[in-house]
Amino acid sequence: MMNLAEQQNHNPGETMSILRNTVDLHIHSNYSDGSATPAEIVELAAASGLRYIALTDHDTVDGIREILQAAASINTPTAFQTCDTPTAVPATHTTAAASATHTAAPLKIIPGVEISADYKKPLHIIGYFRPDNYDAIAPFLVEMKRARHERNLGVIEKLNSLGIRMTAEEVADIAGKEIFGRPHIAAALVRRGVVQNLAGAFNEYLAGGRKAYVAKRSLPPEECVQAIAEAGGLPVIAHPSQTGMRLGEIEELARSLAAHGLYGIEAYYADHTPKETSNYLELAHKLNLSATGGSDYHGEYRKNTHLGTGKDGALYIPEAAALSLLSSL
Ligand SMILES: [Zn+2]
Repeated sequence: MMNLAEQQNHNPGETMSILRNTVDLHIHSNYSDGSATPAEIVELAAASGLRYIALTDHDTVDGIREILQAAASINTPTAFQTCDTPTAVPATHTTAAASATHTAAPLKIIPGVEISADYKKPLHIIGYFRPDNYDAIAPFLVEMKRARHERNLGVIEKLNSLGIRMTAEEVADIAGKEIFGRPHIAAALVRRGVVQNLAGAFNEYLAGGRKAYVAKRSLPPEECVQAIAEAGGLPVIAHPSQTGMRLGEIEELARSLAAHGLYGIEAYYADHTPKETSNYLELAHKLNLSATGGSDYHGEYRKNTHLGTGKDGALYIPEAAALSLLSSL
């Protein structure tokens, strides 16, 4: 009887399908800045043969209930009863019938959220949660939202005191939502003819130290990591390459965050070069942290990044990364 390796050698096509990525732990829906609804993400993930996905919208867990429901509706008991062992690939999977069963394997949802930390470099922290406890982080997220909103109201107050008429309602109108950001205030300044363009709005009024600047409420990464950990979640440094920090600086940051409950580093990422991936894997190993990974899928808003496969199909995240995350939650 052939062992698994021999089977793979006899059927190179099947080896390819075994290596197909089944994990994507960094996904955005239309609850933040993605274009797809949570239900559309579930559909696409199932059609792509993904087994473990995490919804990680910016600063909100509002889409989680919907994605859990969507997954529950496709994960019917009959759909996956013959294929519930993700790591073992039995010899029967070389038959067409078995690979059809494999396609219908259950899709596991890991609730998550991506938080922007206030740091000298752009730094995002992802938190992963169990389906029954993701709501524990909601009060922290609401508090962050409130702080951001208050800051923006403060900017408008300052503009008013400078004799520039503007209301929160007017800016909310431009933003299309109640909670708006500084770019929307900038747009209102352009619309009122106070400045010629958005850059001018920041240069003269909104940037740090300018006429209508209001300081951000400080939310350092330590606080974000701690809030996630205290809510029963697992905090991870997202796409370390995007911080623009050198490996040594990332190490220093990861070391200090580890003391606050950091779980891992997003080593596998659509934009990481193989060298970066191996650097971050080594770093995670060195600091006794876990490695996670994802595409940072944004649907139509980031057309060259695909769910599960990243850019040019190059993303591959071992199932072990998802399994160890799940077992640690
Ligand atoms: Zn993201």
